[in-house]
Amino acid sequence: MNGYTQRIQPGRPAGDVVIVGGGPVGHRLAERLHHHGHQGTVTLLDAEPGHAYHRVLLTSVLDGGLDPADLELPPVPGARGRRDVRVTGVDRRRQRVGTANGESHRYDTLVLATGAEPRIPAVPGMHTASGRLIDGITGLRSLADCARVRGERVVVLGAGPLGVETAVALRRSGRDVSLVHPGPHPLNRWLDATAGDLLARHLVSLGIRVETGRSAARVEAGELVLDDGGLLTWDTLVCCTGTEPRTELARAAGLRVRTGVLVDGEMRTSDPHVRAVGDCAEHPGWFPGLLASGWDQADLLARTLTGHRSGGRRPRTVLRLRVPGLHLGVLGRPGLHREAGAAEGDVVTFSDPSRGRYATLAVDPAGRLSSAVLVGLPQALATLTQLHDARRPLPDDRLALLLGETAVGRRTSVLPPQDADTVLCRCNNVTALTLTGAWQNGSRSLRALADTTRVTTGCGTCADQIRELCAQLATAEKPVARHEPPVDARASGR
Ligand SMILES: Cc1cc2nc3c(=O)[nH]c(=O)nc-3n(C[C@H](O)[C@H](O)[C@H](O)COP(=O)(O)OP(=O)(O)OC[C@H]3O[C@@H](n4cnc5c(N)ncnc54)[C@H](O)[C@@H]3O)c2cc1C
Repeated sequence: MNGYTQRIQPGRPAGDVVIVGGGPVGHRLAERLHHHGHQGTVTLLDAEPGHAYHRVLLTSVLDGGLDPADLELPPVPGARGRRDVRVTGVDRRRQRVGTANGESHRYDTLVLATGAEPRIPAVPGMHTASGRLIDGITGLRSLADCARVRGERVVVLGAGPLGVETAVALRRSGRDVSLVHPGPHPLNRWLDATAGDLLARHLVSLGIRVETGRSAARVEAGELVLDDGGLLTWDTLVCCTGTEPRTELARAAGLRVRTGVLVDGEMRTSDPHVRAVGDCAEHPGWFPGLLASGWDQADLLARTLTGHRSGGRRPRTVLRLRVPGLHLGVLGRPGLHREAGAAEGDVVTFSDPSRGRYATLAVDPAGRLSSAVLVGLPQALATLTQLHDARRPLPDDRLALLLGETAVGRRTSVLPPQDADTVLCRCNNVTALTLTGAWQNGSRSLRALADTTRVTTGCGTCADQIRELCAQLATAEKPVARHEPPVDARASGR
C-alpha cells in the first residue's frame, strides 16, 4: 500500500508546532491545525517581509489587475505568525530552531514548508563577477521579484506554465513581450503537439513573440543572443526556467534530501519529529511544484497531527492555465494520457482546431478519468475537474460531456454532489462548504459570493463551476419553497 493511502490511527499529540515557511502551504497547514482543534501552540515563521500572501496570484500584480494588498492571506486564528524572520538552523537534539535575528523556538513537531526558489540557467553574461544577477534579470517567485520588472521590453525565458502566464500578464500590461523556449511548443512537458499549437497560436494572437526551438546563448547589456544568432532586446529578462526546492535547512540538519526533503506518506522526514510539506518536500506519489499537491499535503498532515484519520486522499494533479480566453487545463500527470491509452482503457480525442477546441481523455477500464488535456472547452473542463477530484466515472456519452450539450442542445448536468471539503476556487482556497455557508447567509449570486469569499477573484477559471454550484443550491432550495406559507400570509407578516 502506498504511504499516502494509509489509514492512520489517532496517535501521539503533535504538541507545540513550529512551521518554517509561511507561503500558501505553511499558511494552509496552520489554518487546518486550528480547524481540527490542535492542542498546543502553532508558530509560523517566514523570511519574507510584509503580510503572508497568495503566491499564485503574482501574475495578476504583473498585469495590474490586483494590488499586492489584494493578495494578502488572512491571519490564522490561534497561530503566532512572524514575518521577516529567517530560520538559520535546526538543532534536532534539543528540538529548537534558531533565527537570523537571534530568536530560538522550541518544538515538539517541526514542519518545513520552505517552498522553492527560481532556478536561474547558466547562460554566460547573466551574473556579475561577484556572482550576483546583473540588474534587470530576475526570477519570478515573490512580490519583490514583481517589483524588479521594469521597462517596456521584456523577454521571458521558459514557456512552462509560469513562463506562459508571466508572458501573458506582461503583455496585458501593455509591454512588448518575447517568450523564448527550447521545446517544440509552449508547455511541451504537459501538452501534445495539437494542444501546444493551439496555445502557441493564442499567444501570438495576444501579440507575444513566441520563439520556440531556441535557447538563450549569451546575455549582453540589454540584449539576449539566441543560439540561432537571433537577437532580442530587453529592459527586463524574467527567468521562468524551473524551480529548486529549498532544502538548505534540511541538509544542514542532516535530514535525508534528494531533490526535495524526502518524506513518507504522512509527510515525515528521516527524523520523526520533523515533517515537510509543499514545494520543498519530495515523495514519489505527489507531483511537485503544484499548489493543489501542497494543500492536500497540508490537509493530510493537519489531520495526522491532530489524531484524525487521513482520509486516504490520493494526490491530484491539476493544471489550469491562467490565460484569459483560452481555457486550457491538464488533469492527471502530464503525458500520462499517452501511456495510459496505450496500455489499457480508452483514449477519447476531440479536435476542432479552427474553433480553438481540443480534448484528449484517457479513461481507465472502470470508466474513470486517468488524465486529460482540454483546450477551449470550459464547461467540460469544469465538469471533468470535479469528476477527476471525486474519482467518479464519466457519463457514457463522452461527446456530450465534452461539448457540455446533449444532442438536442440541452445542457448536460453531470456534476457530482459536492464534497464539503472540495476546493472549488484553487486561487483563494474556497471550499464547497464555505460557499454553501455564504449562500445560506445571503450571498445568492456569483458576484455576491465573490465579495464574501473571494471566489473567482484569482484566475477566474472556476467561474463556471461556481455558477453551476449556485444553480444546484437554488434548485436544492425549491422543495423548501413548496412548504412556505401562502403569499397573503407572508404579506400579512410584514
Ligand atoms: C507566479 C506564480 C504562479 C503560480 N501559479 C500556480 C498555479 O496556478 N497553480 C499551481 O498549482 N501552482 C502555481 N504556482 C506554484 C505555487 O505557487 C507553489 O506550488 C506554492 O507557492 C508552494 O507553496 P509553498 O508554501 O510550499 O512554498 P512557497 O510558496 O515557496 O513558500 C515558502 C515560504 O517559505 C519561506 N522560507 C524559505 N526558507 C525559509 C527560512 N529558512 N526561514 C523562514 N522562511 C523561509 C519563504 O520566504 C516562502 O515565503 C505558481 C507560482 C508562481 C510563482
